[in-house]
This record gives sequence, structure tokens and C-alpha cells, in this order.
Amino acid sequence: MTLVATGSDEKGRRPRVLVLGGGFAGIGAAQKLKKSEADVVVVDKHDYHTFQPLLYQVATGLLEQPAVGHPIRDLFHKQDNVRIHQDRVAAIDLEARRVTFDELEPLSYDYLVVGIGAEVNFFGVEGAADHAFPLYTLADAVRLKNHVLRTWEKADREPSVIEDGALNLVVVGGGPTGVETAGALAELYNGVFRKDYPDVASDRAKITLVEAGPEIFPMFKEDIRTYTEEALTKRGVEVQTGEVVESITPQRVTLKSGTVLPAHTLVWGAGLQGNALVQSLGLELERGNRIGVDEELRIPSHPDVYAVGDVAAITDQKTSQVLPQLGSVALQSGEHAGKTLAQRIAGKETKPFKYKDKGTMAAIGRGSAVVQMLGGKTMKGKTAQLAWATVHLALLPTNEDRSKAVVDWVGAGLTHQRSGRITVDLEEEPASEARK
Ligand SMILES: Cc1cc2nc3c(=O)[nH]c(=O)nc-3n(C[C@H](O)[C@H](O)[C@H](O)COP(=O)(O)OP(=O)(O)OC[C@H]3O[C@@H](n4cnc5c(N)ncnc54)[C@H](O)[C@@H]3O)c2cc1C
Repeated sequence: MTLVATGSDEKGRRPRVLVLGGGFAGIGAAQKLKKSEADVVVVDKHDYHTFQPLLYQVATGLLEQPAVGHPIRDLFHKQDNVRIHQDRVAAIDLEARRVTFDELEPLSYDYLVVGIGAEVNFFGVEGAADHAFPLYTLADAVRLKNHVLRTWEKADREPSVIEDGALNLVVVGGGPTGVETAGALAELYNGVFRKDYPDVASDRAKITLVEAGPEIFPMFKEDIRTYTEEALTKRGVEVQTGEVVESITPQRVTLKSGTVLPAHTLVWGAGLQGNALVQSLGLELERGNRIGVDEELRIPSHPDVYAVGDVAAITDQKTSQVLPQLGSVALQSGEHAGKTLAQRIAGKETKPFKYKDKGTMAAIGRGSAVVQMLGGKTMKGKTAQLAWATVHLALLPTNEDRSKAVVDWVGAGLTHQRSGRITVDLEEEPASEARK
């Protein structure tokens, strides 16, 4: 499709591309505008880009925070046409072509890229919002890590809490987030914690993975499902399928079947929905609160607005299915929107988005991962772990992040160490008193 050139206007002003969100999608879009005659503004509520696929490794002390949270400003040092702001988007007015923020002055735009991601969906489960530990942000990962460490410290001081299920963990959701988190927590419990807490009856700690559907990993083939269930069981994780969580209190998880699981930690890896902000756009949204887009990733009623990544419902041209909320979809769609905009601004021809499937994969633990390629070929075990590591390293934003991850992974592989397992609580600990 050829579009009219919209470069500088009659006053010589370059078009402003406003990118909301500095995740895979937003960063991908902004980077592809590097050579464009446009002024690009990226706004994110955090000053860092979060690498969500490895959050569970922060939660279990395998990786340290900077390995998965990279300063957004750092990613644009070599891109003069970008300005970054840290602020929360308060509202988007598509008709007025204006975005308002908590603190920044409102910004108008010529083109808008919405990449504000998804958020956790607790499906209205009683007590979930207050007591469950979701794993969607870096703060979530640190919160879960601190909670688990504090629980074990408490059990060390007061062994009687173990009777009440203090060390028990319930992980909800049999998709990649739930499986990877359950596997990593089991390795933390069975590995370094046994040595850290020699007086704690660690054999009393139970990890249960609860999945509402009839099986875990429904997106994978049967051989992978069987392998995964065996790998989890080998690590001491009990898998309960066909069970739905009904309510959660700080110390109990009640299932719809009536079973009550004593557990002081429930990790929620069960569901996502598009960022709540999109509900105020006045658009008819797709399933899961996602913005429907055309084949060029534009909102059909507002062709200067692109929605990319988790917040968008992007239909795969090949399969006619809506693409899953994955890092590779977010990165590719963001980059496509950036490239398309650069072409539009230069008055050149643009192309529809075509997703390149890199396969579906998950890591269950040391030497244990699964991969399913586009054609259906599967890999399991160490080969799959190598493929998983390669794909995830490629998604990390810089070589520095890749090196940090490799050093931590190799270190943990050789020594079983998890050097990130410390708690630093700024709220509980007052600032050091100045020396008098
Ligand atoms: C635990 C977990 C494990 C995963 N594992 C994998 C995996 O193994 N492989 C894979 O491919 N994918 C995985 N994913 C999915 C993948 O991480 C997401 O699909 C991807 O991060 C989506 O990118 P995005 O840019 O659309 O959104 P996000 O990465 O969520 O980025 C959105 C950005 O918008 C910002 N933002 C949100 N609201 C506002 C606001 N109001 N104002 C300002 N800024 C805002 C956020 O701070 C964030 O930086 C995983 C996800 C999770 C949660």
C-alpha cells in the first residue's frame, strides 16, 4: 500500500511519533525510527525496560535485578531523534490526538504507538488481588523473592509455623509462567535452601501446581506434556489438573472442589488481560481487553495509531488466529510499526505484518527445557535448554545484559549458587544516620 508522504509540515516541523510503553514492542518501534525524519518520544512509567521472560529467575534468586531491568535511556544513547520520559500515561484521547500523563504536560502526536502491554487477570477470584503474588513486573519478582526468603527465615526462628503450611507454595496456572516458576522454586527449595537452613524441616515444604484445564501446557504436543509433568514431579512439584482456585487468604488456598491447601504463598501465573487504560479509548475491544488492529497494526478507525505487543489482538496472516502474548510477537510487531512509520513518513510503500514463528518453549529447570518448532518438531532436555537460552539471550536488549545472564546462568550451573537471594527493604530500614 502506498501512502502520502507526511514528512515535515509547511512550518518545517517534523512529525512527532509518541510511543507509549518501553517494553519489547515500544522499544522495537522507537529503534526502527532511528533514521526517520521524525521526533520520537517514548514514555514509560518505569525508567527501565523489563525482560519479563526471566522474572521468575529474579524471584528465585538466580538472576539479579539489573539482568532483567535495563535503563530505557541507555538503549537510545546512539539515537538522536528520541527523547525519553518516565511517567504514567493517565489517558489517551484518540479524537483530540492527545495523551495526558500524571505529571508531564499533555503531549499531542502525529502518530501514536500504543505498547503499554497487559496486566494480570485474577478472574475475580476472592482474595487474589490482595494475597496472591503475580509475576508480571520486576517489583512483583522482588516482592515474591522477599516473601519467600522471609518465610524461610521465620520458619528458621519459629519452626512451629511449618505445621501451618508456611513453607508450602501453590502456583496457579499450567502455562509457561506457572510451570517455569514452579520448577525454579522447587530447585531453590531442594538446592540452596537445604544448605542455607540446615535446621528447617525442608522435607515438609510442598509445592503444588494447580491448573484448571485437564492438562498442563495445552499449547504443546503430548510428548512435551508428559515430559514436563515428569520433570516437575522429579523436582517434587505436585501437579493438580482440573482444579480451579476459588479463594485465597494469606495462609489458605481453597479450590472449587472443596480441597483446602494450607500454603502461605500463592503465585499467580494464570491469566492476562490488556492494560486497563485501553477500556477508556472508546473502542470495541477484542477478547482479553486487547485492541483489534488491521494487517499493518493500525487501529482501523484511527489509521495514525498503531497498537503493538501484548495490548494488541494481532491476527496471524498465515493461520488467521490471534497471535499469543509473547516477547517475539511484541518485538516483531513493534519493529514492524516503527519500520512502517518510517516508510510512511518518507512517503514510501508499506507492507502488512508477517509474524516469523520462532517456536514455543519453556525451561523447567537445570538441564530440562522443552521446545516445539513451527512444523511440530519437538526438543526436550539439554538440547532444548540450549535452544531456549539462545532465543532468550537474543531477545535481551544489549550485549551487556546477555553477558550478565550468561555469567549468572553458568555460575548457577556450576555451583548451584543463587547469589540474588538477599532482601533489601528500603521501607523497613531507615537511612543510615550521618556520623556525628
Ligand atoms: C512471567 C512471564 C514470563 C514470560 N515468558 C515468556 C517467554 O519465555 N517467551 C516469550 O516470548 N514471552 C514470554 N512472556 C511474554 C512477554 O514477556 C510479553 O509478551 C512481552 O513482554 C510483551 O511486550 P510488550 O512490549 O507488549 O509489553 P510489556 O513488556 O509489558 O511492556 C509494556 C510497558 O508499558 C509500560 N506501561 C504500562 N502501563 C503504562 C502506563 N499507564 N503508563 C506508562 N507506561 C506504562 C510498562 O512499564 C512496560 O514497560 C512472559 C511474560 C511473563 C509475565
